[in-house]
Amino acid sequence: MKRLKEIPYKIYLDEKEIPNAWYNLRSAMINKPAPLLNPGTLKPMTAEELAPVFCDELIAQELDNDTEYFPIPEEVLNFYKMYRPSPLVRAYFLEKALGTPAHIYYKFEGNNTSGSHKLNSAIAQAYYAKKQGLKGVTTETGAGQWGTALSMACAYFDLDCKVFMVKVSYEQKPHRREVMRTYGASVTPSPSESTNIGRKILAEFPGTTGSLGCAISEAVEVAVSTPGYRYVLGSVLNQVLLHQSVIGLETQAALDKIGVKPDIVIGCAGGGSNLGGLISPFMRDKIKGKLDCRIVAVEPMSCPSFTRGIYAYDFCDTGKVCPLAKMYTLGSGFIPAPNHAGGLRYHGMSSVLSQLYDDGLMEAVSVPQTEVFKAAELFARTEGTLPAPESSHAIKVAIDEALKCRETGEAKNIVFGLTGTGYFDMVAYEKFHDGLMSDYRPSDEELAKSFATLPKV
Ligand SMILES: *Cc1c(COP(=O)(O)O)cnc(C)c1O
Repeated sequence: MKRLKEIPYKIYLDEKEIPNAWYNLRSAMINKPAPLLNPGTLKPMTAEELAPVFCDELIAQELDNDTEYFPIPEEVLNFYKMYRPSPLVRAYFLEKALGTPAHIYYKFEGNNTSGSHKLNSAIAQAYYAKKQGLKGVTTETGAGQWGTALSMACAYFDLDCKVFMVKVSYEQKPHRREVMRTYGASVTPSPSESTNIGRKILAEFPGTTGSLGCAISEAVEVAVSTPGYRYVLGSVLNQVLLHQSVIGLETQAALDKIGVKPDIVIGCAGGGSNLGGLISPFMRDKIKGKLDCRIVAVEPMSCPSFTRGIYAYDFCDTGKVCPLAKMYTLGSGFIPAPNHAGGLRYHGMSSVLSQLYDDGLMEAVSVPQTEVFKAAELFARTEGTLPAPESSHAIKVAIDEALKCRETGEAKNIVFGLTGTGYFDMVAYEKFHDGLMSDYRPSDEELAKSFATLPKV
């Protein structure tokens, strides 16, 4: 193994090298992602139909499968400068601990107050809402990262921000809530008594700890019934993957500086936004035959959309108020076990990634959460950074791949997305340390029950 002083540990880009346009991976896809459908007519949603829910420019981005690059507005670039470019780090100390000939790199997106990559899209969405002259936005948040990111973005543009937070997280993560309130957002635990759909869900499932699907329904209801408000979403949608392409573009630019091409790109997948962003330039090159690399999505065993889901049109939310999206899904009625830590709890997966997976252009694996926390601990002890549980899914598989290289003696280049910091997840770490964390795998019967809720399209 080379001595650290002979290799670059952190590969920084210059501030001027922050990309000035987002890359639209859909433009390179041969089979385009399936369109959103109107649940009433089963026809593709038009911009007019989406207008009561989403901001106009974001709708244009959502529906555009052809434009390659969207310029990043100057106001958004200015905000990016507060925390970008993010570092690409060679995981030298982890490699050493594993005794692997592999070269491991990670792109760290946790160096901002919200603590994750979600800010990359939050600031873009808040910008377009402001530009449209709106008063505010509504949203859901699971583990709290998206709500925090959006609160920061709304504070920057002086927009009101109403967050519906999945009840289990609201109770487990009071500090997240206070960060959001510091930035001026109002936070309501979901399901709540303040919306029709919330009251209906509570009547049907008393004592439910909530899910992202429920919280989305509540946030959409409030957006469409409050003048001057629209709904914004932190993952899954095409527009979110577009904004997150800044991660992949920076990663590729940094690797180019040291003349490295990845053999494996790994990311955790909840709704697919960080992974979709990280892989966008690499997937483009792969589709165009310019890069031979494996792309791997990692999901929790307790919420296995890719590995055990069905590729079908489904509702995006529990209340069935949103358009239908074709995706790998567990069914919108799926409520993950409450012992499942952190994010990655969404029942479906980005339509872009679902199509790429169905086309065999990427792989997926699911991992049990105690293994994920073991990997997180090894990473924290070797690389110094305390990782978010979601990000640690990617760490786990990066370690597994590096250990395979130890067997074969191959010096593969492994790149993974370290999407966030773990500071707000100490309750989960505590459970792990106290031996109170278990590995939940939904039974086939359980999944069959939620598959039965899929719409007949
Ligand atoms: C939200 C989140 C994820 C998962 O969301 P994706 O849309 O799949 O990227 C992963 N890591 C962190 C730290 C998050 O906050």
